[in-house]
Amino acid sequence: MPTQSHKPPRPIALRGSSLAGKAYWAMVQRVALTAACIDLGYIGLFLWLGSVPLALVNLGSIALYLGAYALIQRRRNVPGLVLIWAEVIGHSALGSLLIGWDSGFHYYLLLFVPAIVIANAGRYAAPIVLALLSYYIGLRVLCDYIGPLDPLPGNGMQLVNWIHICIAFALSAALAAFYRRTILIAERRLLRLATLDGLTGLFNRSHFQEQASTALDKCARQGSPVALWLCDVDHFKRVNDTHGHAVGDKVLQAVARTMAEHLREDDLLARWGGEEFLALLPYTDAATARQVAERIRQAVQDSSLDMGKDEQSLRVTLSFGVTLVQDAQDLKAATARADQALYASKRAGRNCVSVDLG
Ligand code: GH3
Ligand code: MG
Ligand code: MG
Repeated sequence: MPTQSHKPPRPIALRGSSLAGKAYWAMVQRVALTAACIDLGYIGLFLWLGSVPLALVNLGSIALYLGAYALIQRRRNVPGLVLIWAEVIGHSALGSLLIGWDSGFHYYLLLFVPAIVIANAGRYAAPIVLALLSYYIGLRVLCDYIGPLDPLPGNGMQLVNWIHICIAFALSAALAAFYRRTILIAERRLLRLATLDGLTGLFNRSHFQEQASTALDKCARQGSPVALWLCDVDHFKRVNDTHGHAVGDKVLQAVARTMAEHLREDDLLARWGGEEFLALLPYTDAATARQVAERIRQAVQDSSLDMGKDEQSLRVTLSFGVTLVQDAQDLKAATARADQALYASKRAGRNCVSVDLG
């Protein structure tokens, strides 16, 4: 018998093999390549401004960024990230010490703060951010104490500072856009998990009930009829026993597709349980609901699931129970009536539609 774990679920992390994890490392690679291109531009700028040491620092930076890109490409993510850290920490120190703190090389250290907090999901974030802060303050004090070692001539430092301001703004915006996208993807995924059945993509039970209440209130106000049917796949256990559970799953998906194709946009369709489906048809009387159920029953009976060239094609049939719903309060009782009607269809030999108006 399976044992239940009482451990609390692990928090969702941004790294690892999830979608967010892959997107995260793809983003880090893009940042590394962009930074390498920016550094290439800086080599020209610093040669033009007459600072050979800073041009050489940028050459080293390009090597580190390309190394990080290649490592992440080979899924060696942590060493790749270490190279990027080494580059940013080293570059900000050398740049600030050579031409002065006001050049703005330290802006890039600040960009690491949100990345640290998000990637470490709160566990090591505080100590790492504090370590970075200590480094930042230490560098600032050292720069003030010793002054620029290789100052740029004329307005060179101001020019470098303006460029750094623009790049820091652009990178902050790009990072924020990435985090926003990641949150939206996670939100959509959670919404899907909370409202849809994983196998068929139809509404799950609780979401159906929620949506049905709203639709029923609206129809009750307008005095429009609402029909409900419950449907069950006949002898489905045999399908599983004969062809296996995976084929059974495919049958359920095919049945769900056929049902959805025959319903209108306003109709609600849910997977009610294992091989049972429930539909609510607003603005529909019992006779019309019966016709719709008949059409679906016929379509499923006529269609066959291809089982590959060596096996016979597989056919299933459906039984339906149809009723009317008065209002949201009547939904539970109406579902029981539809279940009674469905039971009548089973007793009548299956593959048919029965109506119970209570
Ligand atoms: P009846 O015509 O009376 O409805 O007979 P039946 O065999 O369809 O009914 P029964 O309730 O005996 O069997 C339902 C089967 O549906 C048993 C269960 O293993 C199977 N089932 C439930 N959920 C799933 C699922 O998600 N996938 C698959 N493949 N089978 C499922
Ligand atoms: Mg059943
Ligand atoms: Mg069944």
